[in-house]
Amino acid sequence: MWPCGECRCDESGRGGDKWHIPRVIETTTLCARKMVTPFTWYLLMLHKHYLHGNLALPGGVTDQPGMYLEAMEIISEWVNHGKSGNS
Ligand SMILES: [Zn+2]
Repeated sequence: MWPCGECRCDESGRGGDKWHIPRVIETTTLCARKMVTPFTWYLLMLHKHYLHGNLALPGGVTDQPGMYLEAMEIISEWVNHGKSGNS
């Protein structure tokens, strides 16, 4: 979708802004909003359940895929970062 919100990206998804989110995206001028995929939304939905102690797969924490646990950690980290008022 273009234009997306108030960002300055062009139709190709390139913008004047450079983004770098440690452990998430390397420095790029690609529109960060265009990087949000259906899988991103799926992980965010799983994170809500994760916070209530409901894991993705049966069993305990050690039964979960490493990628899932890392994604939950990163999302928690950035949610807390946002709550701290830092950008
Ligand atoms: Zn954009």
